[in-house]
Amino acid sequence: MGSAGGEGSKRRYIYKSTAMKKYGLTRAQIEEAIRLGLITDYKYVQNPHSSSAPPALLIGEEELAAKLEEIKKLPRYTEAERARRRLYRARKKQLDEEVAFLCPICNWKIEPLRDSLTRKAFMRGDVTAEEAKIVAVVTHFRHAHTSYDRVRSDARKLARYLKPEEGERMVQALERYLRLKRRSSQRAREEREYLLEEFRWLKAKALEKAKREFTEIAIMRAKEAGLLPPDMTYERYAEIAEKVLEREDY
Ligand SMILES: [Zn+2]
Repeated sequence: MGSAGGEGSKRRYIYKSTAMKKYGLTRAQIEEAIRLGLITDYKYVQNPHSSSAPPALLIGEEELAAKLEEIKKLPRYTEAERARRRLYRARKKQLDEEVAFLCPICNWKIEPLRDSLTRKAFMRGDVTAEEAKIVAVVTHFRHAHTSYDRVRSDARKLARYLKPEEGERMVQALERYLRLKRRSSQRAREEREYLLEEFRWLKAKALEKAKREFTEIAIMRAKEAGLLPPDMTYERYAEIAEKVLEREDY
């Protein structure tokens, strides 16, 4: 580990992340500098907030500052990091050129939102640009060009996607739940819990049906807009959407 050096007095150690920020260095440069023996004054300490986290690297600032010019000449990224960055940039470019599309109805360029599953699945390489575009198109059409969002936020409308008696049960569960909301007795609480569960279960069932129906409408409208191949089917779309969702299931 680090050389003793000094009189054991006031040597200042800084965290690797601080060193990176303060001196404009990268992880690869610091690791390589240690490997080459440019940095000799360093130590590992246990993370004070979590014993399961890997030990943190502390670096003697004096030596680091003295050898900064040499360290800065080291490659900023490892070959693996460079390959990852190249791939990331290539995918970003593809996202912009092949996944994003101009919606002729909105007259606006649409691309998968930053945190969307579609974007993540594409950036990870789980779906191709073509597949990501299909999901992006259908998702956009379902939300923007069908009444899916309106139906989904309205229990009564949603209930119509169930068998009549089930739809009735769903609406009644919600209404009774709302009526019991202010009561604080044990019995009311228990009934509320039961009603909520019943409502949620039926709602999920209705939502699944509604989603399928609106997805089919979205596919049809997107085809009319020339944004999907004419032979695109719901089944083919569902297969691709499955790949986008898969990773969320763990
Ligand atoms: Zn649109």
